Amino acid sequence: MARTQPNIIITGTPGVGKTTHAEALAEKTGLKHISVNQLVKDKGCHEGWDEEYQSWIVDEDKLLDAIEPLAAEGGCIIDWHACDLFPKSWIDLVVVLRTDTKNLYDRLAERKYPELKMQENIDSEIMEVLLQEARESYDEEIVVELTSNDADEMDANVERIEAWLENWRKDNAQ
Ligand code: ADP
Repeated sequence: MARTQPNIIITGTPGVGKTTHAEALAEKTGLKHISVNQLVKDKGCHEGWDEEYQSWIVDEDKLLDAIEPLAAEGGCIIDWHACDLFPKSWIDLVVVLRTDTKNLYDRLAERKYPELKMQENIDSEIMEVLLQEARESYDEEIVVELTSNDADEMDANVERIEAWLENWRKDNAQ
């Protein structure tokens, strides 16, 4: 059965603003914010804790099983730093957030990330790893790159996604 609400991925390097955007968008649109980090923790979709990286070692099969019923219903904002594991058929829009290295450094330093994790994330942002992953995994017309350096950009991004959502709803009205 066709979804009556779209599923949106908000992705990007940790610290670019995924959760902040997803929360604002959920509040404005009524879509469900799915924080994958939280879901991994709450539903035990992991194989333990990685001390060096200070993060869960995700079990992707368990994660997909946990998200599948939500995605089937539609109306999800999937907030995660990876996107290539979600089947194309589940996803209607992929937003890749980007930010300047200086901002990213400050935001990750604030979080007290371990040095190795900090450097890897900054390298990943500079090398556009998440943008490439999104472009390789989904049709190019559904992948949008947006910058998230300040509050004005964030507001503009949320408005732009809301406008996209309105159009999607019109185009898919039953
Ligand atoms: P992510 O979910 O990608 O790890 P967060 O949404 O948790 O990122 O944001 C990380 C930090 O950066 C938070 O303190 C948030 O308030 C700040 N931040 C995110 N986006 C912006 C923005 N566009 N302008 C200013 N601060 C931002």
